[in-house]
Amino acid sequence: MSATQAIIAQDERFGAHNYHPLPVVIAEAEGVIVRDPDGREYMDFLSAYSAVNQGHRHPRIIAALKAQADRCTLTSRAFHNDRMGEFLQKLCAYTGYEMALPMNTGAEAVETAIKLARRWGVEVKGVENGNQEIIVCADNFHGRTSTIISFSTDPDARVNYGPYAPGFKIIPFDDVPALEQAIGPNTVAFLVEPIQGEAGVAVPSAGYLQAVRRVCSEHNVLMIADEVQTGFCRTGRKFACDHEGVRPDVMTLGKALGGGVFPVSAVVADQPYMGVFTPGTHGSTFGGNPLGAAVAIAALEVLEEEKLAERAERLGQTFRAAMARIECPRIRQVRGKGLLNAVVFDDQFEAWDVCLALRDAGILAKQTHGNIIRFAPPLVITEEQLQSALRIIRDVFQEIA
Ligand SMILES: *Cc1c(COP(=O)(O)O)cnc(C)c1O
Repeated sequence: MSATQAIIAQDERFGAHNYHPLPVVIAEAEGVIVRDPDGREYMDFLSAYSAVNQGHRHPRIIAALKAQADRCTLTSRAFHNDRMGEFLQKLCAYTGYEMALPMNTGAEAVETAIKLARRWGVEVKGVENGNQEIIVCADNFHGRTSTIISFSTDPDARVNYGPYAPGFKIIPFDDVPALEQAIGPNTVAFLVEPIQGEAGVAVPSAGYLQAVRRVCSEHNVLMIADEVQTGFCRTGRKFACDHEGVRPDVMTLGKALGGGVFPVSAVVADQPYMGVFTPGTHGSTFGGNPLGAAVAIAALEVLEEEKLAERAERLGQTFRAAMARIECPRIRQVRGKGLLNAVVFDDQFEAWDVCLALRDAGILAKQTHGNIIRFAPPLVITEEQLQSALRIIRDVFQEIA
């Protein structure tokens, strides 16, 4: 048995089966390249769902982690630590918001935004507590907590996890009239991904986010953009909402905020919204910890100094242009922004075998919804690495009957 097989067997035996991973084991990683225990090399085209935008083990982020590990790692929020403020100031400067609330995972950031919106609904908008309504989109992905899966439309995420949290109304994505119709006197927020990543990189029509912004403002409803996957340069801008010059009232952030090194998430908003939180009303033991803060500061510096938004924009165009030239009768569409892209195959197509063939050729990518493969390499990928990946992907795709 190879080292890879032994490790997979161990995972299967002792781990809960709540994932169905591609059969590959990653033991070492650097930049875009990952290596398995048997010495094979691959290019990572998933980037841990865009948590590794800065590349695996970016030297600057690892240095920040090590230095902070030698000073102080955790204080809880019962005391101040000397890194959180610096982190939050930097995050506010980067995002252009007045205040930030640090958490750990993306789902916690979304939970925080839901709580913010509900409180704001009662204390500012005047909705009676218990009646607050939040509008969300079909095919959303916002995380795995029991409240969040209550408004998922994915049966796998939801089934048999009832009773489900009330207070959510589901409308189609990319449908402005549906949003206008769904808003009532108790609506406090519209929670939306500017591009639906897990749904298969669903890019809304041009002008959608601007229209959402206008409708939310007109009806005194908070626009909450979940930028956990699309944020931090992935789509060729700092945030996907920047493509339309839209400033949401609240953004949820995570994944690449921790530079692929440490879980760090946050909610950003201006004072009139963030002000609803008062001492004791929300929190997290690890949220704002100095180790995560030090990592996140370095993660943000890397995004800026290496101009990763510009890089993602340029290389994304190269990627989509090359994909469009591939002759494969089963491909229906190539879509995405920046380096968040997907190739959509025929409805009945099973992309799992293609992902296995890609793996054997040295590219790690994962299908979503059976017939869609997402391609999202670390944003530090070089032009040469991208060209070599494109040749591999072309060869694999042209093999498909
Ligand atoms: C990944 C993701 C989340 C959840 O983040 P976790 O860190 O896995 O909890 C939330 N929203 C979006 C858009 C995501 O892609």
